[in-house]
Amino acid sequence: MYKTKAYSAASATSSLASISIPRRDSTDRDVQIEILFCGVCHSDLHYARDEWHDVMPTVYPCVPGHEIVGRVTKTGSAVSKFKEGDLVGIGCLVDSDHTCPNCRAGLQQFCPNQVLTYGSPDKHRTAPVTYGGYSESIVVDESFVLRIPVNLSLAGAAPLLCAGITTYSPMRHWGVTKGKKVGVVGLGGLGHMGVKFAHAFGAHTVVFTTSPNKKEDALRLGADEVVVSRNADAMQKQAGSFDFILDCVAAEHDINAYINLLTRDGNITLVGAPEKPLPVSAFSLIMGRRSLSGSPIGGIPETQEMLDFCGQHNITADVEVIPIQKINEAYERMVRSDVKYRFSIDMASLKAE
Ligand code: NAP
Ligand code: ZN
Repeated sequence: MYKTKAYSAASATSSLASISIPRRDSTDRDVQIEILFCGVCHSDLHYARDEWHDVMPTVYPCVPGHEIVGRVTKTGSAVSKFKEGDLVGIGCLVDSDHTCPNCRAGLQQFCPNQVLTYGSPDKHRTAPVTYGGYSESIVVDESFVLRIPVNLSLAGAAPLLCAGITTYSPMRHWGVTKGKKVGVVGLGGLGHMGVKFAHAFGAHTVVFTTSPNKKEDALRLGADEVVVSRNADAMQKQAGSFDFILDCVAAEHDINAYINLLTRDGNITLVGAPEKPLPVSAFSLIMGRRSLSGSPIGGIPETQEMLDFCGQHNITADVEVIPIQKINEAYERMVRSDVKYRFSIDMASLKAE
């Protein structure tokens, strides 16, 4: 066991602050990684503030961070895919049971024994729960380590590990391609990646935003149209026309307004995970045989596929790089939807602590 610097929250109401955490010594199958950048996901904030208490109560101290990019510093004797110096990524998962039908299908995101990057019981008993990427280094089983294409900027690649795969996976599942009309609701970290992917897949892409000042950005990111969702007339004009809508909103909002925009057999997928349940109008679904579903991150093979796709198409997140010392301010700005479009923490800043 060794100690490494990290940032943690000590309770639901405390600011994040510097802490020293234990990491396990590498086993044969482990890769030790020096963390270079870590994206800031709204899930980090939900979790640090215990906003998902009913589903997933937070264990304190909690060290968030599951959009990790770093460099391999050490490999166990049985590690075959990575060597010292490789640029790698870690997303929301660091382990699973490797044997259930979901794992065998490469869909580790559905494994009942999955180990999340932070907040899951630590199988290795190094700590009560796993600690995430707001830290100097991490030790991970090689089967959960991903390869980062060398042409991508590291700060911009980090958010691909959660925001990227969470938007890529449902779009692939629901067949987003040329000829389809696709909506992306909420232009934040997930939403802006959703726009980039929908555009890259060739779909006619429409952004729904509550922030009129994001209009120009939405078009630059690849949207064909932008609708300010508080404008009822503009919403009405889109009624019944969408094949697929990806809802990336982090707070309470009216999803029926979006269900009504779907065409016959259209689908709306929730990836946003607001604190409180959202009421659904049965009639909105019934009348067009429309469907409502959800989607969590993605499996390891699909995450690598997404990273390779991003390498080929030169896709990264639009990031504002911050030192770890600005994390509390970043959380406040995220609550105000004031992020363009993902914070990425330069972990070198932690060395100064
Ligand atoms: P984010 O960067 O804060 O973006 C959320 C966006 O939602 C905002 O930029 C804003 O966009 C819109 N929004 C915020 N408050 C709103 C309100 N009251 N009404 C309507 N729209 C509002 O968050 P994120 O990191 O993209 O995460 C989004 C959600 O996805 C979070 O709940 C997060 O926990 C969840 N998530 C889920 C998964 C998964 O596996 N399913 C993975 C990662 C994250 P506009 O300014 O454009 O309106
Ligand atoms: Zn996330």
